[in-house]
Amino acid sequence: MLIGYGFAFALMGLVVAWAISNLVSLGKATDAILSENYRSILAAENMVDVLERQDSGVLLMFLGDLEKGIGQFRENEAVFLEWLSRAKDNITIKGEAELVQSIEAEYQNFRQQFSTLTELRDTAETSQQLHLSTYQNSVHPLFEKVRAACVELRHLNEETMYEASVRAGKVARRAIWSTAVVAASALIVALVFSLFFVERIVGPIRRFMEASRKISSGEYAVQVPVETHDELGHLASEFNQMATQLGRFHEMNIEQIISEKNKGEAILSSIEDGLVVFDTKLKVTGINPAARRVLDLGFSDGDTLHCEDIFSDTEVCDLIRKTIDTGTQPAVPDEQRIITMAEGKQSRHYLFSITAIRGRDRKLTGIVLLLKDVTRLREVERLKSEFVMAASHELRTPLTCLAMSVDLLLENVAEELAEKDRDLLQAAHEEVHRMKALVDDLLDLSKIEAGKIELDFESVPVSTLLDHVDSVFKSQMEMKAISFILEMSENLPTVRADANKITWVLTNLVSNALRYVGKGGQIQLMAHRIGEHVHLSVCDDGPGIAPEYQSKIFQKFVQVKGRESGGTGLGLAICKEIVRAHGGAIWVESTIGQGSTFTFTLPLA
Ligand code: ADP
Repeated sequence: MLIGYGFAFALMGLVVAWAISNLVSLGKATDAILSENYRSILAAENMVDVLERQDSGVLLMFLGDLEKGIGQFRENEAVFLEWLSRAKDNITIKGEAELVQSIEAEYQNFRQQFSTLTELRDTAETSQQLHLSTYQNSVHPLFEKVRAACVELRHLNEETMYEASVRAGKVARRAIWSTAVVAASALIVALVFSLFFVERIVGPIRRFMEASRKISSGEYAVQVPVETHDELGHLASEFNQMATQLGRFHEMNIEQIISEKNKGEAILSSIEDGLVVFDTKLKVTGINPAARRVLDLGFSDGDTLHCEDIFSDTEVCDLIRKTIDTGTQPAVPDEQRIITMAEGKQSRHYLFSITAIRGRDRKLTGIVLLLKDVTRLREVERLKSEFVMAASHELRTPLTCLAMSVDLLLENVAEELAEKDRDLLQAAHEEVHRMKALVDDLLDLSKIEAGKIELDFESVPVSTLLDHVDSVFKSQMEMKAISFILEMSENLPTVRADANKITWVLTNLVSNALRYVGKGGQIQLMAHRIGEHVHLSVCDDGPGIAPEYQSKIFQKFVQVKGRESGGTGLGLAICKEIVRAHGGAIWVESTIGQGSTFTFTLPLA
């Protein structure tokens, strides 16, 4: 940049210097005109004037005014000599010196003739006529001569002045042209230099731009040539270093991504459960070998498939869609998350679970669907249920017989027995009845699970169900001084239910509440319509259930630790199965120390 500006300033200086030198020579030419000619012209002009005044002085003498005439002559004589001396001092042209000498000589003669004339006049004898002839013959010719010489001197100088002016004009024109030429050449040189200079700066910038564009499009092997050792050169080498580093980072990232991808693929392939990955538009973006096997897909399939193409059961895709829309997996019980696939003549059952994949900012980017083969598990469950059913069925008759026998014994011979024996009999009575209840419950549950229970659906008014419960528990409530509140929306529609089974569910929930609510507590039985279902709730202000137990208590034999009540732990499991067989759901909401609310739903009739 310094070079560029320096060069431009040098060029400007050159043009200015050239213009100044031209102006100086123009000035000199004008000066020459002044010094060489103007002063001589002035002197000649004045000499002519003075001479004419002297001549008129002589004429005055002849007109009779002698004194004034002589005075005028002498007065102007000094002036003439003064101008003559100036002309002598300014001899610059060839022939001028001779001319001035001749003027001087002739003027000298002129003066002498005038002196002679005055002397003649002084003698006063000569006549007027004589004087006039003297004037005409000797003074006037001399006057004419000197005047002519002065005029010639003026002409000579005027000519030379004209030549000088022509010369000055030439100098001026030459100055204009040469200045214009120098300025134009300077302009062209400056233009060429600017182009070259700009190219020198812009060229590398353009190369930087091109390199940056390549880097941003992922081409990291780009390098900018380092041509100079100035700032641009340093920038280029720094840029190259940066590009190399970026390239290395990129390589590292790609390696990391590839290794993560391979790791992910290895994990996917090694998992025995089926895994299908969907994007947010439900298109399959990944599928593991197990899932291909389960869904009967070839190795080329899968890349362009949509959820609906691989699952004939639309429920899976609906659940996935819901997860994408809401961002959370809908709470669906395990039993409703089973899909059945035909495999040859057999059918296999898979429990599916949906997990959201989240990217940056926790934004949902996809879904993982896990298919867990539960065929064996279900088979075991089925066998277990069948065994439990068979066992409880087999146990039921002898147990009933046993219970009856113990009851009869207790009724008939208890008083004859010793107190110790009577206590033993009483204990046997209690245990036999507990066992009978357990076997009854087990039998009921396994029947429901096996789908062997017949439900007698009818259109039942909700009030009938609630009133029945109210009448069954009335005395027990009073005994424990429990306030029993029945809350029911007006004009509740009828529900589609097996009245006996639902009464069993309600009875079980209320008897649980009664068991856990302290003396003077409160139990509330509520019924409300929500959508196409009626929600029935049993609410108590008992000890409540810890959150970790709330979903577990609906499983078989699960009882809250430290709160075993002598029950079988099967009540809620049976409730759940009955409600499910009605097409409803059951759940509990509870806060420790504040009570629990068990709610189940029944479809409208
Ligand atoms: P159980 O025969 O033990 O009552 P359930 O299946 O009916 O079996 O209940 C399972 C467990 O749930 C009970 O053991 C008890 O700990 C808990 N539970 C049930 N109802 C209530 C309630 N109203 N308040 C507190 N805990 C309850």
